[in-house]
Amino acid sequence: MNAVEVHNISMKYQSLNGEITALKNIGFSVQDGEFVSIVGPSGCGKSTLLSIISGLLSPSSGTVWLNGEKVTGTSRKIGYMLQKDHLFNWRTIWQNVMLGLEIRKAVTQEAKERARILLKTYGLYEFKNRYPDQLSGGMRQRAALIRTLVTDPQILLLDEAFSALDYQTRLAVNDDIYSIIKKENRTAILVTHDISESISMADRIIVLSKRPGMVKNIHEIKLSCS
Ligand code: ADP
Ligand code: ADP
Repeated sequence: MNAVEVHNISMKYQSLNGEITALKNIGFSVQDGEFVSIVGPSGCGKSTLLSIISGLLSPSSGTVWLNGEKVTGTSRKIGYMLQKDHLFNWRTIWQNVMLGLEIRKAVTQEAKERARILLKTYGLYEFKNRYPDQLSGGMRQRAALIRTLVTDPQILLLDEAFSALDYQTRLAVNDDIYSIIKKENRTAILVTHDISESISMADRIIVLSKRPGMVKNIHEIKLSCS
């Protein structure tokens, strides 16, 4: 079964200048355990698409299915990691990691144990009482990923999650994050305007192209390079 199926999604926004077509008849699917990147220029509808998959935004038409279930609102299956979604500097790493659970009122002994294991596995446990600005950019990104993983989402949506990092850090972090996601057996969709990031991270790339204000085509490129 596919983890994600996007069927014929269109999205129109009403604005002062009239209607904006952000997405037009978009369809694709993502297999369980696959890491897909959606790449395209700024304004082509990537964030809109992720918001629709997450259930935060309802499309003008079309449907999204997660594991064969139609999306009608936000789902616990989804973990959402945003570029802006930085760690809070006034909270320790532990308190940051627990935040996703606190919001969901899901701070159980079991969840704390999961947080401990994730922090230990990915080399952050000894830093759990530090504050984010005492850690490197790569460590902070790992902590942000752990904060998402601790809620046990099956599908991770990453919206330009690494754009704020400098180039060298990004290269290292991309490899790091990819192997964590694979090791934890998650499905991931990364949207980015940076094709080199797609190439370095994804199992498969979907290109959203922009024709005057709207998406016209999706091309899929199967990567096979060993
Ligand atoms: P991307 O993530 O690829 O940069 P977005 O999904 O943010 O693209 O935006 C796609 C298009 O929809 C853009 O033209 C943008 O200006 C427009 N748009 C996005 N959100 C809104 C909104 N809330 N209201 C009106 N227009 C929007
Ligand atoms: P707060 O309510 O301010 O988060 P806690 O009593 O939860 O304080 O935590 C106190 C300290 O112990 C924190 O610095 C945190 O890093 C650590 N801590 C709390 N719970 C755990 C836990 N389950 N496993 C490991 N460390 C923990």
